[in-house]
This record gives sequence, structure tokens and C-alpha cells, in this order.
Amino acid sequence: MPTPARTWRRAGLALTLALGGLAAGVAPVSAGPVHVPRSAQSYVVGGAQTLADRDAVAATGAAIDSIEHGQIYVSATLTEAAAIRRLGLAVSPVAPPAEQGLDALLAGFPANMQKYHDYDEMTKEINDLVAAHPQIAAKSSIGKSHEGRDLPLIKISDKVADDEAEPEVLITSHHHAREHLTVEMALYLMHLLVDNYGKDERVTRIVDSREIWVVPNINPDGGAHDIAGSRLAMWRKTRQPNSDKTYGIDPNRNYGYKWGCCNGSSGTPSSDTYRGTAAFSSTEVSRVRDFVNSRVVGGKQQIKANLDWHSYSELILWPYGYTNKAVEPGLTQDDASTFQTWGKKMAESNGYTPKQASGLYITDGSSLDWLWAEHKIFGYTFEMYPKGASPGFYPPDTVIEKETTRNKEASLFFMETADCPYKLIGKQDQYCK
Ligand SMILES: [Zn+2]
Repeated sequence: MPTPARTWRRAGLALTLALGGLAAGVAPVSAGPVHVPRSAQSYVVGGAQTLADRDAVAATGAAIDSIEHGQIYVSATLTEAAAIRRLGLAVSPVAPPAEQGLDALLAGFPANMQKYHDYDEMTKEINDLVAAHPQIAAKSSIGKSHEGRDLPLIKISDKVADDEAEPEVLITSHHHAREHLTVEMALYLMHLLVDNYGKDERVTRIVDSREIWVVPNINPDGGAHDIAGSRLAMWRKTRQPNSDKTYGIDPNRNYGYKWGCCNGSSGTPSSDTYRGTAAFSSTEVSRVRDFVNSRVVGGKQQIKANLDWHSYSELILWPYGYTNKAVEPGLTQDDASTFQTWGKKMAESNGYTPKQASGLYITDGSSLDWLWAEHKIFGYTFEMYPKGASPGFYPPDTVIEKETTRNKEASLFFMETADCPYKLIGKQDQYCK
């Protein structure tokens, strides 16, 4: 249901259009749909059978959206599509999302996605949630986006105003603009914790013994842009302008560990995996960095673990993304075993496929790699519903409840385990004294 604010906004815009039409002496409907220009298009790539093939596709700079039945769905510029063809692979365009109809002229989600929260609706939902649970939920901010939108930060814990000596957990959503289901996931988790506190024993124990930080929308500029036209824009990046007049940095290629090292991102601004001019050149990513750095208290990082929500493909991924090796300097065999055990355990409850991130294809500059290398934070990427390219990034709102609830058990287990992940491999005495 649209909120009253949105209804008002729509009515207001309709009136503006109508008046504009009258002033110009033409019927208002002749304004026509507004097409949002896109730097990347969707393609399906056939014939890529091996990890080496997938790495070669990723190295062109194309964003790999999903892999299924030996086919790779990508968002690629014309140059990247040509580079994939030169690899000897078949490349065919995929039809863009359908026009949304006249109503979409006035911006927002299409008719079958009305229950998704746009930025203003998300903000209202959070404000209401915090107002209803002031003892255990508090809202602040990690700063503003490039276009000036607030990046809300919600803390959930008992004695929420105090910085207690409790293990901290970080939940992040919406690095990528078109992955709207991840905002719903963050809202679901906040409600799960605050609505069941004092009623559900397990939830109460988590809220009492953890400090949970939620950044539900890292890329609100991209998210707003994605639903601003008559057609869903299939937008992935931020909206920070680049020197060549294109827009956007891929925020999950802009973190500062092994940034741009390994053919896992693009140096071309129009690319969907553009890594930016430097590590942390994305305004939003620098805000995340500053917040995480601020949780080093007394020389010790307080955040133990991060769940970073993306869509789609139904995967659970862990670091590193930049290398195929499971063990690297700074990531020991015990660390690798813990990552694997924890990831597989969570996958048992939601049916996602667990693997090291680079098992899909190489990425560099991801949040997971930086969180681990810089802060020893156990980070997991959850790629949500659906498994395949249909319905891809834009599932109807009828799936929201099922696909967020599907992650309840994995999320609770994640928060319970975060105090000492090494207990999963029986080494809590060694690592968690
Ligand atoms: Zn993503």
C-alpha cells in the first residue's frame, strides 16, 4: 500500500504534469514515458563452463548477475559485451524489464512491487519502529550519501544508550541499487528482534547479549534512481558522477583491501563494476569504513561479524573474493575452516548454496575482503531469492514475507555464534579467551 505521503506526492506530481500540459496547450498524457539512460545492458552468455571462463568474463568488467545451467547473465556495456564475444563465447541481449504503465510515469515501484519500501517509506518504518521500542532500539546515522540522503544506522540492544562490553554484529543491505529485496530483509530483521523481545526466549537472549548495528540502505541514491523512470532502470552502482559524464561507482568493488588488484573489477567509469578512482572514493563506502573504524575501542574491534545482503542467486559467500586460495597470509587454516563451517551451517536452514566468494568468479575491492583483512570481522554475503534470472532483481512483493522469513534461522544462528565463531571448530579456548 502506498503511504499517505506517497499518495500525496503522486497526486501532486500528476497535478504538476496536468498544469504543465495545460500551459503548453497539449494533453498531459503526451508528456510520454521518461526513459532513464543506462550505461549497461543485460546479456546472457553461453558456453562458459569453467571457473576460468567465469573469471575471464568478470575480467572484462561486466557485472555477473547470475550463473545458471552453464549460462551467465551479465550487465555489460557494449565494449564489455564485445570483449566477451572475443573470448569465443556467445552473447545475446536479454529483454529489459517491461514498461510499468502510465502510473509509473509518476515514479516509484511498479504495481506488483508496491509493498517494497522506497527510501521515504523505509525511513518512516524505521522511525516508527524506534519510537515504539525506545529501550532497545536507537537510530543515528553513518553520514550522508553523495546526493545528501541520510544513511541511517540502527542499534538494537538492551540498554541501547550504553556502550556495553558485548559482542557486536553488523547487518548491511543495499550496496547495489536494484537489489531492493535486501532493504526488506533489513527491516524484517529489525522487526524480528524488537517485536519479539521479551516474548521469544531466543530473541531476548540475543538482544540482551549482543549489540546489533543495522545499516539498511548503503546506496539510497542508486535505489531511488532505479525506480525513478517509467521503466525499472536495472541500476547497480551509486550515483556519484564520474569524469567522463557517466554515473556511479560499484560500491562493492571500492573497499580498500587489494583494491583493483586482480581483474575482479573495472577501471572504466561506464562499467557496472567500476571500482572508482581510488579505494573508498565512493562517498557511501567511505561512510561505512568510518563507522567500522569507529568501533575500534581500546585498540579492539568490537564488531565480530557482518551479514551483507545482496540479491540474487541464493548463495552464502565468504572471503576472500580476490583469490581462489582458501588460506592466505592473515587468513589461516583455522579461519578458513570457521568460515566454511559457519557458512555451510547457515545454508542448511535456508537452502542457499555455500561457497568461498571466488568460487563463483574473482572480485576485488569487496566489503568482505576488507572487513576480514583490516578488522578480522567474519563477513558473509547472502545473495537472496531468486535462484535464477527470472524474476531476477525484481521479484513481486508477494514473495517478501516468505523470502525474508526464510532467513530467520540463519540470521539468529549468525548472531548467536558471533561472540566466538571459532567455537564451531572446537577452538574457543584457543581464540576466545
Ligand atoms: Zn549485490
